[in-house]
Amino acid sequence: MFDALIVEKTAEGETRAGVQQIDLDRLPDGEVTVAVEYSTLNYKDGLCLGSGGGLVRSYPHIPGIDFAGTVEASEDDRYAPGDKVVLTGWRVGEAHWGGYAQKARVRADWLVPLPDGLDTRQAMAVGTAGFTAMLAVMALEDHGIKAGPVLVTGASGGVGSVATALLAQFGHEVAAVTGRPEAAEYLRELGATQIVPRADLSETTKRPLEGETWAGCIDAVGGAMLARVLGQMKYGASVAAVGLAGGAALPASVIPFLLRGVNLLGIDSVMQPYDNRVRAWERIAKDLPMEKLEAMVQPATLADLPKLGREILEGRVQGRVVVDVQ
Ligand code: NDP
Repeated sequence: MFDALIVEKTAEGETRAGVQQIDLDRLPDGEVTVAVEYSTLNYKDGLCLGSGGGLVRSYPHIPGIDFAGTVEASEDDRYAPGDKVVLTGWRVGEAHWGGYAQKARVRADWLVPLPDGLDTRQAMAVGTAGFTAMLAVMALEDHGIKAGPVLVTGASGGVGSVATALLAQFGHEVAAVTGRPEAAEYLRELGATQIVPRADLSETTKRPLEGETWAGCIDAVGGAMLARVLGQMKYGASVAAVGLAGGAALPASVIPFLLRGVNLLGIDSVMQPYDNRVRAWERIAKDLPMEKLEAMVQPATLADLPKLGREILEGRVQGRVVVDVQ
């Protein structure tokens, strides 16, 4: 028997989440059984802990879109008991049972060996949000980052915090957009040199082009803010579109693409090919300053998750929640 955070559907069609003890036999099919040590909280987890947001396939459900732990049993040659592994994406925690449990059973293809230099807790302090931030930095680098400030939107959230720390570590000037004035000091400690109030960028404008300001952008917000930022990019600069915390619609003009050669780069962490996953995790282990990562961490247990799930949906979680599953 082991502890799991189970979301059930009530007769009234509502969902209810709570910690229960369940038997190993109830885990789904998969080649590798992992003793989960840490998981974390992402925006999608907030949805899956509540109404499901259309992501959850069936109930009862165990959310948790990422986890790190130790292999307990494996029917696949690539993994053996005792190996440390990390998992993000592949719709684990949505269509498949996820990391909010002391055990998980998954396909070997979905796992990545934990890179040297990271322990399982640090891997989940990074989590899907930080892994995605690294993918976004790599995409910007592949397209060439111009000289000047790189904008990070939704900066005090999970993606934004890690993106800010990574960009600063790589020597970029970072302009952090936040709706929380009280987060300014936190963002400066992560390496931001400029704090941009959310209100400055949340209004739409009729002008398709504004002053050429940003050398690159990692955008966790989408919506009107992304549309506005496109018109402020320097000639030939790139925006990595990561999230939709501010909305999925894109009320934008094509003019920045046509007159300034701006690039809009889509970032998907869920179906990311294996080789690029390994590359991103190795760079995280090598380049992310661990003391900055520690400053982002908010510890939690399985029992805290229903409340934290509501908070992340309301944009009230700062940095990275690390769930100690054991
Ligand atoms: P968080 O909730 O931790 O961070 C989002 C941040 O966005 C908030 O902290 C807040 O930052 C800002 N924000 C929230 N609401 C609004 C709003 N209405 N308007 C403008 N800004 C807002 O989430 P994550 O960092 O984990 O994820 C960010 C986004 O990226 C989500 O949409 C998520 O679904 C997506 N994502 C996508 C992935 C992919 O593979 N493409 C992978 C991981 C996440 P502040 O208070 O500083 O303004």
